[in-house]
Amino acid sequence: MGKQIDTIVTKQPKTPQTAEIVCLDCGKVRVVGKGEVFQVKRCVECQDKYRKVLRKQYRKNRIQQLKEKLVNAEATIDTLRMKLVQAGITPIV
Ligand SMILES: [Zn+2]
Repeated sequence: MGKQIDTIVTKQPKTPQTAEIVCLDCGKVRVVGKGEVFQVKRCVECQDKYRKVLRKQYRKNRIQQLKEKLVNAEATIDTLRMKLVQAGITPIV
């Protein structure tokens, strides 16, 4: 039993699987897992802020897109209405 545990312990890597990255926004050093080195570009605080900004931008874009769609839809309705009038049909609305 004791031997088995010893083997498990010695098999564990001695070097930690972490790496340091420098935050893009504030320059702070952050320790991340080695696999995350290319994914994480900011410290925890800046990452949080960055995510919030992204979310806000996304929402803004989405509203803008909906507004554009509405304008397009109204233009389509106007065109259809014109066609009806040209065809001699009076639209109700
Ligand atoms: Zn930072």
